[in-house]
Amino acid sequence: MEMQMSKTTPYIKINSLHCDRCYECINICPTKALIKHNYDEEKLAPFPIHSNCICCMACIEICKKNAITIEGCK
Ligand code: SF4
Ligand code: SF4
Repeated sequence: MEMQMSKTTPYIKINSLHCDRCYECINICPTKALIKHNYDEEKLAPFPIHSNCICCMACIEICKKNAITIEGCK
């Protein structure tokens, strides 16, 4: 089964200094490319699963802190 993907794997960067841990990006990501850390006792910035990202940019649009950038998407 072939999936439609960009040739380069997207690379998601979360700026943990700007991120306020609202997790809106985790809630909106359709492919679980952003998840909570397993050991999330301190409320860490989202953990990226780069290979799950389909470049829909929903996370970037919803992030009010402009804490997300993604490389490798057109
Ligand atoms: S939406 Fe932005 S501020 Fe909120 S958790 Fe995601 S990266 Fe952090
Ligand atoms: S661009 Fe879309 S698929 Fe990629 S991490 Fe953001 S919400 Fe998820």
